[in-house]
Amino acid sequence: MLFVLFSLSVAKVSSQRYRLHNPLGLIMMPILTKHHQHIKRITELNRLLSEGVVENVSNKKELNFDNFKDVFKKKKFSELVRAVFIFRLCSIEWLLTHSGKIIFQGEKLLGRNLWNQVLKLTLYGQFVAGDNRSQIERTVNTLRSAGIGSLLGVPMEEDADNFQSDRSQWYEKNVEAILNSINLAYELDHNYPMVHVKGTALMPSKLIAKISKLIPEPSENEEIIKHIAECIRNGNKVQIKGLDTGELEELQNGLEKLRKIGETAFEKKVIFMFDAELTYVNAGLNLFSLALMLNYNTQLPLVFFTYQSYLKNSPVNLAKDITFTNVHGVKFGAKIVRGAYMDQERNRAIRKGYPDPIHDTYEDTSLQYQSNVEAMLKQIKKRPKNYRIFIATHNEEGVRKSIAKLDELGIDRVGGEVFFGQIYGMGDHITYALGKAELLVYKALPYGPVMETLLYLVRRMHENKSILDGARRERILIQLALKSRIFFI
Ligand SMILES: Cc1cc2nc3c(=O)[nH]c(=O)nc-3n(C[C@H](O)[C@H](O)[C@H](O)COP(=O)(O)OP(=O)(O)OC[C@H]3O[C@@H](n4cnc5c(N)ncnc54)[C@H](O)[C@@H]3O)c2cc1C
Repeated sequence: MLFVLFSLSVAKVSSQRYRLHNPLGLIMMPILTKHHQHIKRITELNRLLSEGVVENVSNKKELNFDNFKDVFKKKKFSELVRAVFIFRLCSIEWLLTHSGKIIFQGEKLLGRNLWNQVLKLTLYGQFVAGDNRSQIERTVNTLRSAGIGSLLGVPMEEDADNFQSDRSQWYEKNVEAILNSINLAYELDHNYPMVHVKGTALMPSKLIAKISKLIPEPSENEEIIKHIAECIRNGNKVQIKGLDTGELEELQNGLEKLRKIGETAFEKKVIFMFDAELTYVNAGLNLFSLALMLNYNTQLPLVFFTYQSYLKNSPVNLAKDITFTNVHGVKFGAKIVRGAYMDQERNRAIRKGYPDPIHDTYEDTSLQYQSNVEAMLKQIKKRPKNYRIFIATHNEEGVRKSIAKLDELGIDRVGGEVFFGQIYGMGDHITYALGKAELLVYKALPYGPVMETLLYLVRRMHENKSILDGARRERILIQLALKSRIFFI
């Protein structure tokens, strides 16, 4: 009798959302609920749900960042130990201050081979997928088995304030590496292959900085964007007032590289994201990305630009770019981040005597972040096929709020317009929980030889410090996961 009553009530509570897929669940539930009220039955059902006895079959799966057993299930014990070790290192102020020196001096002290091994077991292993195809493929497959995609990228860090004279070979090498990463993404991901690149790895920062000064509001310079787009497409001679012959030649070479990249990404339908960098080059990068959008976002939003929400002018720039692409009948992609260069930006503003471009407080940046995400989601709601957003953050609250907005607007979670992402080696509790909840989530996955990723590793250490509470919480969850494995609890 009790069994029948309980089964009926559970069926009522769960008719739309749950499906029993373990007969044990059917046997256990009536016993467990013998003297319980309706509300307690729901609590119990949630417990069974989290234990996998009952499966949630609605298209809105539960999102749980705290379930450390589940979240780190796919991680080896040694990987968890390494993560705790690295996060601890990243919290030591002295080490962070000298991390660059230590990483570069390590080679001199230990010799290249030994130092490579040390890094592979520690920092490199934590933040980089590997340096050969089989290692990268293994990482991509492991992530895929947890429902996580890979946003491929080859670290190409240039010390932006240290302009060197002839870097042409480095740019050539970089364009080849980017083309390879587009091909690799195409081969390894059959749903939404994607790569991200730094524009300053393709032509001199000094040139991009000058273009940014000449054209500080790219989307308001329609004719120039069209001209650049045409030069990329047809190899026409580029003309920008204010650039000398040498600079125009450098730009022509850079546009030729963008053509190769744009055409390959277009042909293979690979999403291609331009990273945002320091403000003194961002306008130039924005100009190139809009020109690429005119050429290659005709059918799908493949070319993305990145909007740093810590910048006071980010909502205006985002709105202008949306309008620009709309007016020109092409699609638009945006990666929304908080911004990675806060200290450099602030120091530069003081040094050069211009107003600080960054929001005054973290809270202001966060409000801006959510409002930029919301602005994009509203566009997606209106015309889903025209827009894509990549919500890049290690912030749990930011992820939750974005998902709540997504659901409130009734946007399909897996429609292929909204992607979430964290950096490989960071925010795993968020990425794996999103993967489990079956949202479209990606790891920004760098790969390449150890010695070519050193600057990238230094940046990762600093970024771990800058993600405030996120890294600390992740460390605590990993420690709990380790304890539960050691003590079988
Ligand atoms: C997939 C991916 C791609 C990325 N691509 C880029 C990119 O192209 N360009 C780029 O610049 N960054 C990029 N980032 C890094 C990003 O901008 C952030 O630096 C990083 O993600 C930390 O922010 P958070 O939202 O994850 O964490 P949180 O801990 O929530 O935020 C930390 C961030 O808040 C901001 N902040 C902190 N203190 C203050 C303060 N006092 N006042 C104002 N703002 C403050 C800073 O931006 C800081 O980085 C990327 C991140 C990811 C995950």
